[in-house]
Amino acid sequence: MNSFYPIVEHFYTIQGEGYWAGTPAYFIRLGGCDVGCSWCDTRYSWRKEGWPTASAEQMKEWICRTPARHVVLTGGEPTMHDLEPLIQTLQGAGYFIQIETSGAYAPPSSRPNWITFSPKRFKSPHPAWYAIADELKVVIHAPSDFQWAETQRLQCQRALPSFLQPDFYQQSAVKWILEYVREHPSWRLSLQWHRYLGIP
Ligand code: SF4
Repeated sequence: MNSFYPIVEHFYTIQGEGYWAGTPAYFIRLGGCDVGCSWCDTRYSWRKEGWPTASAEQMKEWICRTPARHVVLTGGEPTMHDLEPLIQTLQGAGYFIQIETSGAYAPPSSRPNWITFSPKRFKSPHPAWYAIADELKVVIHAPSDFQWAETQRLQCQRALPSFLQPDFYQQSAVKWILEYVREHPSWRLSLQWHRYLGIP
């Protein structure tokens, strides 16, 4: 079992987006993503190899040095890796584990405490995520993304907190979303607060 993970970056900050926005959280960004979103704002994380690596125990030690209780496993696409040892180690230490995933790969056998499912039209999600997600978050880059977002929500097997989040570099997207959520109030606007605040 490979329990060493490629670490792009890790830091203690606040969760800036989605359901847990505003929550202090320790972020661990794992290297590797093959989804290929054209508007990706973390392209530097696509490479899977060549990063410093760390074990689950090492990561636990990093987090233990902070007051964090909430840990976000993100990427890249974190589910490219075997997350089971990492989830078990951190949950065993009492941490609340949120993962942010496009769903491009099968879910880990150990369930995180919270699954932020952010499907991407560039690579079809594994169907299992539609049954276990806790939150749906769709990035809006073009007007056609609203229809695609609806198709994603229809596939979810229960009603989830559902967010539309603008591509930060698409200046019209916030306006489009504001109009859309007023007409479709079961969706909510998600802004990337950390970007507006200039924090990691
Ligand atoms: S899934 Fe995430 S990290 Fe991967 S290309 Fe898309 S936005 Fe970037």
